[in-house]
Amino acid sequence: MMQNDVVVVGGGISGLTLAYYCVQAGMKTTLLEKSDTIGGSFSSPQYSANGKKFWLELGAHTCYSSYQNLLDIVDSCGITETIIPREKVPFTLLVNDQIKSIVSQLNIVELLLNGLNIFKLKKDGQSVKSYYSKIVGEKNYNNVVSHFFNAVPSQKTDDFPADMMFKSREKRKDMLKNYTFKGGMQSVARVIAAKSGLNLFTSQDINSVKYENGLYEIRSANGGEYSAKKLVIATPSAVASKLLWDIHPDIANHLGQLKAAEVDSIGVIVRKENVKLQPVAAIISPNDLFFSIVSRDTVPDDNYRGFAFHFKPGLDDKAKRARITEVLGVSFSKIEHTISKINTVPSLRMGHHQWHEKSNAMLKGKKNLFLTGNYFGGMAIEDCVSRSKSEFERMKG
Ligand SMILES: Cc1cc2nc3c(=O)[nH]c(=O)nc-3n(C[C@H](O)[C@H](O)[C@H](O)COP(=O)(O)OP(=O)(O)OC[C@H]3O[C@@H](n4cnc5c(N)ncnc54)[C@H](O)[C@@H]3O)c2cc1C
Repeated sequence: MMQNDVVVVGGGISGLTLAYYCVQAGMKTTLLEKSDTIGGSFSSPQYSANGKKFWLELGAHTCYSSYQNLLDIVDSCGITETIIPREKVPFTLLVNDQIKSIVSQLNIVELLLNGLNIFKLKKDGQSVKSYYSKIVGEKNYNNVVSHFFNAVPSQKTDDFPADMMFKSREKRKDMLKNYTFKGGMQSVARVIAAKSGLNLFTSQDINSVKYENGLYEIRSANGGEYSAKKLVIATPSAVASKLLWDIHPDIANHLGQLKAAEVDSIGVIVRKENVKLQPVAAIISPNDLFFSIVSRDTVPDDNYRGFAFHFKPGLDDKAKRARITEVLGVSFSKIEHTISKINTVPSLRMGHHQWHEKSNAMLKGKKNLFLTGNYFGGMAIEDCVSRSKSEFERMKG
């Protein structure tokens, strides 16, 4: 059985960054990922045809100057020069199958009557719906704004804690306000994994964790066996709960209280000349089959355009294909390539802060168990890296 100081289960940005901190501190670290690629919701599959290459985001697509912990890692991996700006193309609404600007759909009088509340109201203790409907007005919230919020985690967000949706953080002054990376977000995941020199094993679906004689024993469905003094679980909360059931039932039960949504995404790559749609950053369509369509027009390409449709759960392929061709205005035969991906996103609810505090209290006495992921302080990339950093600091003691 392969011995380690630390084993990290889950190779999304949370697991990768915690593994990175461990390797930097000289710990023998192994990262185990279920999928055959690293990155989790950092997913930028590459397509190449006739010597032309194109990538498309099926998950995270934008970083901000306020992502300081991520940027520190990016800097120390020497990949700051791969940061590129995002083209300024609009976020739009689809109304009766017509692309509309957001402003055109807002009731300006209602907005003016409510807008000043932004200086008076606090987000603390408020849900997304209760806070934002007072800022933009109830009709604007219901008809327009709520659909943009729902598009962020691809689920209804009325009951999300308002202060977890968009956070204000200190910005790094020397950085673009928003940006991506040459090669897309997943290229960052790959570079972090490679630069840190950690032992990395993909296609490792971890299904058993035991604790004996001061060591964790971790096994995968295909026979992989690893052991470590310290265990990090960086999977979605339901998986973490299952893995800890036999050895830490109190924590497993606590993790089991959380809900999550599965985002069913289909990426579509089309030759540029075949799509007439105006360049957009994203399309949000109230009450449609999808929560959003995120476009690659933010990083224009000479040959292709790409669109990631983030569908609502439970739809069959026929319905999804039909909607893709309707919205893009192309026949399916003109679509050069499609790619599918399922991502898991937490369903944060009011009371999550208390849940989070209780998690930290429960983990305080556990010197060898560490949990990270997008279900603690928030789901933004920087929240994940911050969580990994604070768990690493707890590990150092
Ligand atoms: C469509 C979409 C768009 C987003 N856009 C943005 C954005 O633009 N900006 C932003 O800041 N945030 C964005 N987010 C949120 C952010 O990207 C995610 O919250 C973050 O990347 C999650 O990272 P994670 O490592 O916590 O989880 P994940 O990325 O889900 O990683 C968990 C990993 O655990 C692995 N795993 C699961 N079970 C096992 C097992 N049994 N054994 C081994 N491995 C296992 C999974 O395969 C996965 O790789 C977006 C999220 C989605 C889904």
